[in-house]
Formats: sequence, structure tokens, C-alpha cells
Amino acid sequence: MSGNCTCKTCIDGWLSPRMKERLEGEAEFLHFTASELALDLDDDALIPESGTLSEIAVASDASLHYIPMELHPKMTPAFYHGYIIVLQSILQVLLYEPESDDIEDLRKTIPTVGLVEEKLKRIQEAAAESEKEKGEGKAKEGETNEEEETSTILDPTSDISITSAEASLLSEYFSSGGQITFALDAITDLASEKSPEGSLYRRNQYLQEEEEEFVKEVIDLPKCANDLDFELVREKLGLRRGKLGPYWFFLTDSEDEEEEGADERDGVEVLYEGVNKE
Ligand SMILES: [Zn+2]
Repeated sequence: MSGNCTCKTCIDGWLSPRMKERLEGEAEFLHFTASELALDLDDDALIPESGTLSEIAVASDASLHYIPMELHPKMTPAFYHGYIIVLQSILQVLLYEPESDDIEDLRKTIPTVGLVEEKLKRIQEAAAESEKEKGEGKAKEGETNEEEETSTILDPTSDISITSAEASLLSEYFSSGGQITFALDAITDLASEKSPEGSLYRRNQYLQEEEEEFVKEVIDLPKCANDLDFELVREKLGLRRGKLGPYWFFLTDSEDEEEEGADERDGVEVLYEGVNKE
């Protein structure tokens, strides 16, 4: 229906198997990086007195560079944890194993803004529901089970279940101006930047080496004209065409023409400079 699929296996005619692998890899990487940093938020260098993420913290996590700088005053640990739940949900959609080749089932693996929104709404409602049940003590036997079953049927992708405390972090994220699109923008733009299409790729030897590894990993997947069509993917996921983020730019070692290797890329050590590109 769209795209110029040449492999005949693109989901919906546009999401190629190799593109999907790139998105999964990036989503996994960003979720991991953010989760690791979140473990260290009791460090004063990351959360100063202001109670919001320091620029050092922002510099260390590339997914945060896709949150507009105007929101910096709202970037509390709660906001950050909410954002991580959004990243996690997107990753989960990408990793979902469809039970059939039915197009409806295959579409459950595509993290459109709409699908992720529905999913987050569901897990928030589930958290509120379980909190209510806790509050009421043991709810009437039969009813509870029935409801649980219903939600499993509605949700074959087995949502992450979150506690009501986590649900409130998610609410904090959205009420402070957080959006699902920030996370999708981060994943798609960084995947693009690290691919042979990207300027990061052209500047960094280590990304070119990673690409060689990637090509080996996906050797069994068909090639398609859509494999590097990030613009198409962004549009289909519900991002507008053209660039959104990043909004934050940092002078890092990786900007150097001569990339020294992984150790030099430790974001916490870099010189940073928050500059709004606009
Ligand atoms: Zn294709």
C-alpha cells in the first residue's frame, strides 16, 4: 500500500525486517541507558538542589536530548521515570512476537503513537484498578478473577504491569508536558544517525564497525528498498516529517574527527554545553 517494498515481507508494505531490527536495537539501548542512569539519581551531580536533572545527567542519556529544552525545569526524577516507562512500552511493542501472519497481529509489533498511547492508558488503568482492590481489601472473589481475565484477553501483548506508584510517575510525565513522540523521535532519529544514512555514522569509526556487525546479524533477513527509509517510518509511526529533536547539543569527544573508542564516550565526563539549535 505504501513505501516501495521490494522484499514482499514488510509489515503493511513499509516496515522492513531489517529496519525493525534497527529500531529494536536502538529502543533496547536507550531503555537500558536510561534505566542505568536512573539508578544513580541520588548523586548530587545528576540531581542538584533544583531537583531537576542536571545538564550532566541530560548529557549522559541521548534519549533526553529529544525532550525540548523548555521542559528542563520539569525534568524531575519522577518525570524521568515516567519517560523510561514510555521507552519500555515502545520496546515491548517492538519485541512482541506475533502469533500469526495475520496483518492485525503483525501490526501489534508497530509502535505507532496511537498504539503506545492505548497501551499506556491500559496499564495505568490496570494499576489504578489493582490499587482500588487493595484499598477495598479482598474484593468479592469471582468478580476480581473475571476482570483480570478480561484484561488479558484485551491485551495479548501482555503489558508490563506497573504499580500505582509507577502509574503516578507516568502521569507526572504527561502532565508536565511529556509526550510519547519524544521517545519515538529519539529512537528513530538515533537509529537513523547510527545507520549508514547518518552523519554520526560518517564521523564515527566505531559506528561503522557496529554496522558491519549488524549486517552479519541480519544476514538471514531479506533486503528491502525500505531498509533505510527512516522518513517513511517516522511518518507512519505518527511523527511529522522532517526533523524534530535533538534539542540539546553537547560538545563531546565523539564529535571529534578522531574517535578514540568506547571509553572516551562516557557522557558524564564530557564537556557539555546546552545549546538550543533554534
Ligand atoms: Zn519490503
